[in-house]
Amino acid sequence: GARLPESVGVTVVGAGQAGLSAAWHLRRLGLVPGADLLVLDRGPDTGGAWQFRWEALRLDRAHKVHDLPGMDELGVSFATADPARPARDVVREYYDRYERHFELEVQRPVHVHRVSGGGGDPFEVETDRGTVRTTVLVNATGTWARPFRPHVPGAADFAGVQISTPEYRAAEDFAGRRVLVVGGGTSAVGFLRELEGVASDTLWVTRRPVTFADVPDAGRRAVRQADEAARAGERLPSIVAGTGLPATPENLAARDRGLLVSRPMFSSVQPDGVSWDDGTFEPVDAIIWATGFRAELTHLAPLRLREPGGGLQVQDGRAVRETRLFLAGYGPQASTIGANRAGRTIARRALAELERARPDAR
Ligand code: FAD
Repeated sequence: GARLPESVGVTVVGAGQAGLSAAWHLRRLGLVPGADLLVLDRGPDTGGAWQFRWEALRLDRAHKVHDLPGMDELGVSFATADPARPARDVVREYYDRYERHFELEVQRPVHVHRVSGGGGDPFEVETDRGTVRTTVLVNATGTWARPFRPHVPGAADFAGVQISTPEYRAAEDFAGRRVLVVGGGTSAVGFLRELEGVASDTLWVTRRPVTFADVPDAGRRAVRQADEAARAGERLPSIVAGTGLPATPENLAARDRGLLVSRPMFSSVQPDGVSWDDGTFEPVDAIIWATGFRAELTHLAPLRLREPGGGLQVQDGRAVRETRLFLAGYGPQASTIGANRAGRTIARRALAELERARPDAR
């Protein structure tokens, strides 16, 4: 690819929903891609994390995927996308049209390994294609690369197949096996429904009892809890845990036929199955951990922003202790609508920071 500039005004790391939304707003506020705006992504293709999702995943009518800002100009919407096509293809093509139409000039694949500097000085963004100095950094790296598995004694000695959500490819990989799915979110439910009739049997375990209900405020409450944690610098709660599962006819029918009936969390893993405290044992051949994600922030470690509570202190998308660092898609913004809104606020503030740092530049 093209050489990266040595120095730039604003660098956006990550071209998923959050990074693209921020880049679009920055461009609209007058930043020019290639001159004072640089967007980097380590993925080989467009689509953010969606490009890596499994083939059978479809855009969910229940969990809406929101359109990127400005896309209506092209007359393109996720709402009218063919529901029969894999979500990864739909999103990949959508983002591709978006990037090209708005000339966002995303540089890929560029892997950001390490970010240092800051504290009033420019950030040094170290990549596999050289180091870029940037006045403002918008980090929009998502969570896909950091699946979270709860610690359970014995898990390391399990003799069967054990994967997390990002490693799932297709139900056929589990043909004839007795599969345990762990987790209370949409991914877990999706896996159970795909495995039905392919696996020999499925078991479902969730940490909290599952409720199928259309709770109108559940999403808002989950976002508020994530916001409170981010402001306090605490580890983020799982958005999944807060929202509950939609009471669609399909989900309710699957519950009624016994597919979507969850058991409480087991207490240990044996080589050939899982055990509960009351002595119950279930043999399983495979475990799928659909137990959520953590924010992908390892490259920011040199900035030393991690709080004792285990998270970064982030307020309205900005790091409290590093005013030129923005975290798009973090915590309360971790949905496609949250990412969209974040882009707008972050772009305005990022530009204000840039003007403060370089009063003569523009
Ligand atoms: P991502 O899409 O993950 O983009 C981050 C980008 O950063 C990636 O392209 C990655 O390559 C890049 N990157 C990461 N680290 C680096 C690095 N060090 N250097 C360079 N580049 C880097 N939300 C909804 O609103 N509706 C849904 O229906 C929905 N379905 C979901 C289904 C699944 C299975 C999962 C796991 C999540 C779902 N979500 C859904 C949540 C969804 O992931 C977010 O809403 C949104 O797509 C995340 O966008 P993002 O830009 O924050 O992250």
